[in-house]
Formats: sequence, structure tokens, C-alpha cells
Amino acid sequence: MAFTAFHCALVWPLFILRPKRFDFIGLSVGAVIPDLFIPFVYILPAYEEPVRIITHSLIGAFTFDFVLALVATLYVVPKVIRYFKNTSSDPRGYKFAGIDILEQRGSLPVIVYSILIGTTSHVLLDILYHGGSPVFYPLPSVMFPPDEVLSLEIFAHGTILLAFVYLAYVYWWKMGR
Ligand SMILES: [Zn+2]
Repeated sequence: MAFTAFHCALVWPLFILRPKRFDFIGLSVGAVIPDLFIPFVYILPAYEEPVRIITHSLIGAFTFDFVLALVATLYVVPKVIRYFKNTSSDPRGYKFAGIDILEQRGSLPVIVYSILIGTTSHVLLDILYHGGSPVFYPLPSVMFPPDEVLSLEIFAHGTILLAFVYLAYVYWWKMGR
């Protein structure tokens, strides 16, 4: 997998370009949720494979991942951000691209498609990072890239790392103040 948070680099540009058309929290939660089962499989290792298949398939992106992300986007993450907003004087706790992400929420349909864009982008991007991706489950796993192509793997990781660092630095760290 690409490091979980780096998946945001794929969806943040949508919010940067069209902040009224997308929900920042929905995009971000959708983009990371497929990996958040990892703590769960440490407790119950026997479920690692079935859980990975569900969370990293297109079917999962529209069902299992979507439902978890919807609950988190509506009821959990805004409460955490509001806590930072109320207790800290640093606006980076609730601003991205200079926009207050608690004030600028999308309508329910906007939240729904923002989450789906996030979850779908995660499972598609992970085709590059997993030895065999179950993206089209129940069809057979996609084997790309072949394991021996190390340079391709380094390129894929390097690109998403740079994109994440650039976007986080410019639009969150600098512009959020
Ligand atoms: Zn993943």
C-alpha cells in the first residue's frame, strides 16, 4: 500500500480547484478509510485476507468502505475538528487552502459523491502498490506491477510522496495560517 495519508494527494486537488463542489472531509476520509482496517486485523489476524479483499475492491468502495466513511464524515471527524477549533488558536486545525472546512460543508449528495471519489481513488491507486490487487473482486486479482519491477514501485511511491508533501505544505501548513 501507499502510506495511508498519501492517498489524500489524489483527491485534495478537486477541493483546491472547486471548493464548493466537493466536501473536504468526505474526500479525505474516503481516501484513507480502506486502510483503516489494519488495527482490526492485528486483533483478529485470521480475517486479514477477507477484510483486505473487501476494503480494496470496487465493490467495497461502494459498500463497506462507503458506509464506514459516511458515518465518520458525518458524525466523528467534524467533532474532532471542532474540538481543535474550540481549544487551539492555530487555524490549521480546521482550515485547508484558506477555507474553514467546518463552515464549508457540502450538502448530503455532495458528501456522498465526495466519499465515493475518495474510496474509489484509493482502491484504484493501490493497484500500483499491492503485489496483487483485488480491485475487480470477485474477478481474479490484478497483478501489476510484476513484483520484480522495483524501479516502477520506487517511482510510484516517490510521486505520491512528493505530491502529498507539496499539497500539505502549500495548502495546509502555509495557507492555513
Ligand atoms: Zn490501501
